[in-house]
Amino acid sequence: MSELEKYRVAPDSPVKLKDFDPDDTSLIGDKEAAKEASAKLQERLAALQEVLFAEHRKRVLILLQGMDTSGKDGAIRHVMGGFNPQGTRIESFKAPTEPELERDFLWRVHMKVPANGEIVVFNRSHYEDVLVVRVHDLVPSSVWKPRYQQINDFERMLVESGTLVIKLFLHISKSEQKKRLQARVDDPTKRWKFQHSDLEARKLWSDYQKAYEAVLQKTSTQSAPWWVVPANAKWYRNYLVASIVEQELAKLQMSYPEPDLSGVAID
Ligand code: AMP
Ligand code: MG
Repeated sequence: MSELEKYRVAPDSPVKLKDFDPDDTSLIGDKEAAKEASAKLQERLAALQEVLFAEHRKRVLILLQGMDTSGKDGAIRHVMGGFNPQGTRIESFKAPTEPELERDFLWRVHMKVPANGEIVVFNRSHYEDVLVVRVHDLVPSSVWKPRYQQINDFERMLVESGTLVIKLFLHISKSEQKKRLQARVDDPTKRWKFQHSDLEARKLWSDYQKAYEAVLQKTSTQSAPWWVVPANAKWYRNYLVASIVEQELAKLQMSYPEPDLSGVAID
């Protein structure tokens, strides 16, 4: 069994986030070793993406969730770093627009899923519809409660139609978030990311942790499991995200198409 498995959430298992240590760096010795390993992983990821694109049959959806400052942008930069921009796409989900609110919550999401040969990374996702929406009471519970099952059904349909779905929760501690938000305020190159809603969400930290526990417990399925990535150390987060994505892509057993070359003579 792969050593990564301890980060995969088993279906229907009770989840307590305090059982997951955000400071955990147990799979690799130190920052230097992780950086070296990550560079090699990026090369392997690039090769896997190339064959995915060439084969043009499978689809890959990598979905990132986490509190503000948990490192979603950083993880995307790292894991996408080796990919050919052709065949990859990043989709960020913000508060829904009017036309989006006038439709079911999966409408805007479904439009963005990967096509054959494509890798799409979701920076936030339909999970916001049972996270921010639940914590801030944006719709009644009679509306958000059925969404867990609706999400499972939607994702199963994606998987059954040839999509690999990798769901990553970047797990940071409240004290690490404090440091990162402070850096966001202090550092002129990071300040643009600061939003007042970051502080509103921070005030409701324990409600968010509970809402994340419900997500992990109810929507980690056999076909689309969640991975909890300890993310207090950025180098470990990057190493782990790359390792998980590489492991799961390798399982697709892809190969380059073999066009018929009979009768081909190049003079
Ligand atoms: P950011 O990822 O920092 O650019 O922020 C995007 C913001 O959009 C976050 O505060 C999310 O909680 C919010 N958001 C994303 N999806 C939804 C949704 N379905 N309903 C309400 N807010 C959302
Ligand atoms: Mg933000």
